[in-house]
Amino acid sequence: MKSLGDFLEVDLTVDDEVSPEFEISKILMEHYRKTVLFNRVKGSRLRVAGNIITSRDRMCSALCTTREKFVMKVTESLKSPLEAEDVNKTPWQEEIKSLRELPILRHFERDAGAYITSGVVFARDEEHGRNASIHRMLVIDDNHIAIRLVERHLHAFYTKKEEKNEALEIAIAIGLHPSVLFASSYSFNSFEDELALAGALAGEPVTLAKCKSVDLRVPSEAEIVIEGKILPGERTEEGPFTDITGTYDIVRKQPVIEVTKISVKRDAIYPALVPSSVEHRLLMGMPREPSIYHEVSKVADVKNVVLSEGGCSWLHGFVSIKKRSEDEPEEAIEAAFKGHRSMKHVVIVDDDIDIFNPEEVEFAIATRFQAHRDAHIFRNVKGSSLDPSAERSAITTKIGIDATKPLGKEEEYEKARIPEVNK
Ligand code: MN
Repeated sequence: MKSLGDFLEVDLTVDDEVSPEFEISKILMEHYRKTVLFNRVKGSRLRVAGNIITSRDRMCSALCTTREKFVMKVTESLKSPLEAEDVNKTPWQEEIKSLRELPILRHFERDAGAYITSGVVFARDEEHGRNASIHRMLVIDDNHIAIRLVERHLHAFYTKKEEKNEALEIAIAIGLHPSVLFASSYSFNSFEDELALAGALAGEPVTLAKCKSVDLRVPSEAEIVIEGKILPGERTEEGPFTDITGTYDIVRKQPVIEVTKISVKRDAIYPALVPSSVEHRLLMGMPREPSIYHEVSKVADVKNVVLSEGGCSWLHGFVSIKKRSEDEPEEAIEAAFKGHRSMKHVVIVDDDIDIFNPEEVEFAIATRFQAHRDAHIFRNVKGSSLDPSAERSAITTKIGIDATKPLGKEEEYEKARIPEVNK
């Protein structure tokens, strides 16, 4: 399997010593379109790389595709998964005693502390098999971490164990090829194997090596592996934490990981992933686009789907369709919300609009949309818990904007062209 190193293309190298407390996140946010390598980090012997995915096109290149074909590539990969393979080696030769020796960043002023943001958590369940998922994790002390568990697969594994008063073994793999991060962010409805999707996307199977203190396997290309267990019956305060919108998420009581071993590769690089950065937004948002496409395809001829960066790659969707009837845009709006429940605003445009260019989408709203006729409003519905303007429990108002041209009136909407001049 491809490694982080295979993908890394450094644009900027920082040789001066930098602090993982605010300094690295500040430099990364200032240079958000540049991959930065920090060679000397205060308090750690590991190097740090950040902004590893600087654009949609870089993300697509990691998945062996382009922005135009991305949705289809994911759809095809889901149909032809490529199983991970076990390998007989121990790639992590060096051990580290304390979490404090890792260059884990403190990102924003009011964050509760240093957060691991690019770790993929691996766990296994007797019934459902392996799971890989990304969680924010707050360092509590030398060997304890608070983990935010939303009620999805890892939460289900943990709850089952906790009911028997048992701990859930986990391993956190840090420093992976983006295809593994993408697949781990993908929201499967059932307990599908994330790594088989990663393999299909990357075009080669993920290889798995044995952990040392827990009965789990993780990608052999990981730079760093933190092993441990989520303790039963333990909760601690987790948050505030700056999430995808760049605003602070609230404090909650969350489960606690007890760390049993930390191993690293020789010359390991720690990948920094700054919350609300372009990289965070692409990694979290892009895996939702195929499911929006899938839902809208049931009711319309979809050309493409994007969660726009201006909408935090989470709250705003643009969908281009080849319109066949006047009912289609409204149906497309409802389907798009079904495809991504956290989305708050969706704009449906004709296929002559480039949805990757927000100015073109705004042009369509400016010249093809009348609110009394084309706005579809849904009051008091469940939206994103990350939107600070939502009412309690993520209750929100959603708007679908139909910015398509009426059929049969193409002439009125024709984009004016300048003819060739004959000399
Ligand atoms: Mn899963």
